[in-house]
Amino acid sequence: MKPYRELSKEELLALQEELQAEYDTEKAKGLNLDISRGKPGKEQLDLSMPMMDVLNGETVLNAENGTDVRNYGVLDGIPEAKELMAGMVGAKPSQMIVLGNSSLNIMYDCVARAELFGIMGSTPWSQLDKVKFLCPVPGYDRHFGVTEQFGIEMINVPMTEDGPDMDVVEDYVNNDPSVKGIWCVPMFSNPGGVVYSDETVKRFANLKPAAKDFRIFWDNAYGIHYLYDRPESEQPHILNILEECEKAGNPDMVYEFCSTSKITFPGAGVAAMASSEANVADIKAKLQWQTIGPDKINQLRHVRYFKDINGMKEYMKKHAEIIRPKFEAVLETLEKELGELGIASWSKPVGGYFISFNAQKGCAKAIVAKCKEAGLVLTGAGAAYPYGNDPEDSNIRIAPTLPSTEELSIATALFVTCTKLVTIEKLLAEM
Ligand code: PMP
Repeated sequence: MKPYRELSKEELLALQEELQAEYDTEKAKGLNLDISRGKPGKEQLDLSMPMMDVLNGETVLNAENGTDVRNYGVLDGIPEAKELMAGMVGAKPSQMIVLGNSSLNIMYDCVARAELFGIMGSTPWSQLDKVKFLCPVPGYDRHFGVTEQFGIEMINVPMTEDGPDMDVVEDYVNNDPSVKGIWCVPMFSNPGGVVYSDETVKRFANLKPAAKDFRIFWDNAYGIHYLYDRPESEQPHILNILEECEKAGNPDMVYEFCSTSKITFPGAGVAAMASSEANVADIKAKLQWQTIGPDKINQLRHVRYFKDINGMKEYMKKHAEIIRPKFEAVLETLEKELGELGIASWSKPVGGYFISFNAQKGCAKAIVAKCKEAGLVLTGAGAAYPYGNDPEDSNIRIAPTLPSTEELSIATALFVTCTKLVTIEKLLAEM
């Protein structure tokens, strides 16, 4: 197939007619498909069901420090949960606060605390005229939702294949004291699947923020979510930001987050944050009035199930076996159907939960709408940008994990048809 830009008007019209017929046939089927959110599929959730039994029949539900986990207490998590979650991000247990079921909730609370009370004695953000966050794009829509809700001005930072464009990041952070934070997903970023290079992490650690209460919101949501089973030394990796910040004399500059949402159960896993001991103390001083303590039974259940971080990493291979074929099926179809047409590009992730798709400029909204009309729900076009505004109207996030393989192949075929149709309409309009 020739690239679309080399086709004559007549050829494009003929193709359009053919594709429209395909589209109409699919639409008539009354499909109800969803590749919009990064949710694990049923088979993945089934994997974790034995965890529900690990505490059954136990008569002693004590943490290793003797705490009866059934009762109140322990603000920052039981020691063995700190150890397990520390393993996910390479932190020391003393740097951990292990909380409830959602890391996004922890991030939200970090922003809310900074707004209400300030960080380590700094002026609360809510009392400042202007607070800004840097937002590498495309990024995670819910991050942007948090900062938008607090009225924080969001600034787009382009992503490169090594992470955010660090020239832009340094320029803002080192010169503008109203820049108080940056959202980062350093490993298998949502949605681009980007793994931050060592140089990027080092440049982050060596920032010289104009604001002393500037924090990097390092959301390591996909830190062990590899799609391929390779020896550890061959897996993509990121440098340990906590250690790098310490080395650079910036020990307090980062809040790191993680959870087991996409390891056990989204919404019923364990979430944690890791930071310097000074930050941990600052946070706990406020947290103590927010809760008497997290769900320690769930924490213990997770620890007993996995035993340790190696158990958890081993377990992730089972997830990979389930979702890798789904990713590969989508990528193969995209390559086969669109690879030679010169009308789109897409990420080829080796971990995480998403494929980031870039259509021709000005086509994303129309493609998403066309898919929806035929019963396929995609993440809203623009969602991966602050204020839902993709300046190019080009990016679409594909989340292949939730549907069955069969549903996914129907969904991808329809997506491809819609992409072709919308692009042809645009090319014809430009002629
Ligand atoms: N961060 C990122 C980058 C995510 O993709 C997600 C889930 N889609 C979350 C956080 C949410 O995590 P949790 O369930 O721990 O709140």
